[in-house]
Amino acid sequence: MRTPVIAGNWKMYKTIAEAVDFVAKIKPVAEKATYCQVVVAPPFTALAAAAQAAKGSKVAVSAQDVHWDKEGAHTGDVAPGMLLEAGCTHVIIGHSERRADHGETDVLVNRKLKAALAAGLTPIVCVGEILADREAGKTEEVLERQFSGGFAGLTPSDFSRIIIAYEPVWAIGTGRTATPEMAADSQRFIRDLARRQFGGYEADALRILYGGSVKPENIAGLMAQEEIDGALVGGASLKVDSFSAIINYLRA
Ligand code: PEP
Repeated sequence: MRTPVIAGNWKMYKTIAEAVDFVAKIKPVAEKATYCQVVVAPPFTALAAAAQAAKGSKVAVSAQDVHWDKEGAHTGDVAPGMLLEAGCTHVIIGHSERRADHGETDVLVNRKLKAALAAGLTPIVCVGEILADREAGKTEEVLERQFSGGFAGLTPSDFSRIIIAYEPVWAIGTGRTATPEMAADSQRFIRDLARRQFGGYEADALRILYGGSVKPENIAGLMAQEEIDGALVGGASLKVDSFSAIINYLRA
C-alpha cells in the first residue's frame, strides 16, 4: 500500500503572514484526511513560520529547492541543513521552472538529491517532457534520460526515500491536464525504470505524484488510476478552498 501525497507548490507566492494563515486553515482538513499525507511548499522566506504554524499537525513543510553544499560562497542559495533548521521535512528538486529559469540539469538534480538525502530530507523529484518532446514521440526518451541522470549512483535504500512527481511541462499552469490514462502510462514507464535500476520492492513502494493543472474537478479521476499516488499542485494549492477540495478527493 502506497500512502498518497497531496503537495502544494506555492512557487513565488505568499507572504509570511499569508503562509501562516493558510497553514492554520488547512491543518484541520489534513487532520481528517487520514488516507493521505499533506505537504505545503512555501517560498524560502516563509518556511520557518509555516513550519512553526504546522508543528504537531499532519501538515508537512517542503522547500522548493536546495543547494548541494553544506555551506559556502553561493549567493542566494540555501543549504540542506538550513532547511532542516527551518522545520522542513521535504524538498522539491528539479522542478521544470527551475530547469527552465536556472538552467538546472540532471547532473545538478542528482547533486541536490544526494545532499537532501544525506541531510535526512525527503526529496520530491520532478521529471517530465516539454510539449515538443511529446509531439515528437520522445516522452519516454526524455523520462529515461532524466531518470538515469537524476538518480545516478543511488542505492536502492536511498531510492526508497524519494518521491517522484511526473509533471508534463505542457500541463503546468496551462489549464491543460494530461488525461488520467496519459499520466498513468508515463508513470507506469517511470515505475518500470525504477524496477530495472533499483529492484521490484523499491519500484512497487515508489510514490509517483502527478502534477500539471490539478484541480478539484480532475483530482478524483487522476487518483482513480492505480499508478497515480498523489498530486503536486501549483495554482490550485494557493487557495484554501481548492486545496482542501483536492485533499478531500476521496470524499468528492
Ligand atoms: C507545479 O507547479 O508543479 C504545477 C503542477 O503547477 P499547476 O498545478 O499550476 O499546473
